[in-house]
Amino acid sequence: MIPPIASRFVAGESPAEALEHARDLNDRNVKAILNLLGEHYHERAPADEDAEAYLRLVADIESAAAEACISVKPSQVGLDVGTEVFHENVERIADYAADRDVFVWIDMEDHDTTDATLDIFEKLARKHEGGVGVCVQANLKRTDDDLERLADLPGKVRLVKGAYDPPAEVAYEEKSAVNAAYERQLEYMFEQFDGGIAVGSHDPRMIRLAEELHEEYGTDFEIQMLMGVREDAQTDLAEEYEVWQYVPYGDKWLSYFYRRVMERKENLLFAARAVLGR
Ligand code: FAD
Repeated sequence: MIPPIASRFVAGESPAEALEHARDLNDRNVKAILNLLGEHYHERAPADEDAEAYLRLVADIESAAAEACISVKPSQVGLDVGTEVFHENVERIADYAADRDVFVWIDMEDHDTTDATLDIFEKLARKHEGGVGVCVQANLKRTDDDLERLADLPGKVRLVKGAYDPPAEVAYEEKSAVNAAYERQLEYMFEQFDGGIAVGSHDPRMIRLAEELHEEYGTDFEIQMLMGVREDAQTDLAEEYEVWQYVPYGDKWLSYFYRRVMERKENLLFAARAVLGR
C-alpha cells in the first residue's frame, strides 16, 4: 500500500485506484493521463508484461467511459532491450487504443533515445491520424529542428523543459537558457502547428505565454501538469482551458516519489502537510 505521504503524487498501486482518481479529476473538469510506473527494463518479459498491462488499462478506460488517456515510457516497453521490441510494443498499444478511441502519449527519456522515439511516433501518428502524441524536451539543442519535423504531422506534441541530465554538447545547462528555449519553441509551435500543442509545465510564466500566444495565433492548446503539483491552479485553469493531469500509479512508486522530492524539496513539506491536514 502507498503511504499517505506519497499519495499526493501517486494515485495508488492498482489501475482501479488510478481510474478512481481519474473520475475525481473529471468531476473538476480535469482530464487524466494515466502512467503505469516502470522503466529501464533490460529483459523482454517485463517490457511485454507492462505492454499487456497498458492494453488492460485501455480496456478499463473504455468501459469506465473516463476522460482519460495513457502515457508510456519507451524504456518501459522495451527500448533498452532493442528498438524493434519498443516499436513493436508501442505499436500494439497504439493499435489497440485507436480501436477504443483512447489517446496514447509517448514520453521522452534520455537524449540518446530521441530518434527511436520520434521515428515510431511519426509512423503511428500517420497510421492513427492524430491518436498519438509525443513529448519533446526544450533543454535539448536538437528540439528546434525536431519541431520542424513534427509541425506537419497529425497528433499532439507535449513540450517540457526536460527531466534528464544530458551532456553539455547536446543540451542547454543553464536554467535561463532552458527557459529561453522553451519560450522560443512554444512560440514556434503556436505559429506553425495546426493545434495539438500540450504545454507540459507548472511554470506560471510558460502558462501565461501560452495564453498570450493563443490570443495572438488562435491555435488550440492544452495544459498538462503532474498529480500533486499546483493542483489548485489545475482546477482554476480548467475553467478556461483544457487541462490534463499526469497520474502515475503502480507498485514502483518509491523511486518516482523520491524524484519528485529531490527536484523540489518543498514537495516533501507539502506532502507532509497534506498528511497532517494543515
Ligand atoms: P520548473 O522550471 O521546475 O519550475 C518553474 C516554476 O514552476 C517554479 O518557479 C514554480 O513557480 C512552478 N513550480 C514548479 N514546480 C512546482 C511545485 N512542485 N509546486 C509549486 N510550483 C511549482 N520530462 C521529460 O524529460 N520527459 C517527459 O516525458 C516528461 N513528461 C512530463 C509530463 C508532464 C505532464 C509534466 C508536467 C512534466 C513532464 N516532464 C517530462 C518533466 C519536465 O521535463 C520538467 O522536469 C518538470 O515539469 C519541471 O519543469 P517545469 O516546467 O514544471 O518548471
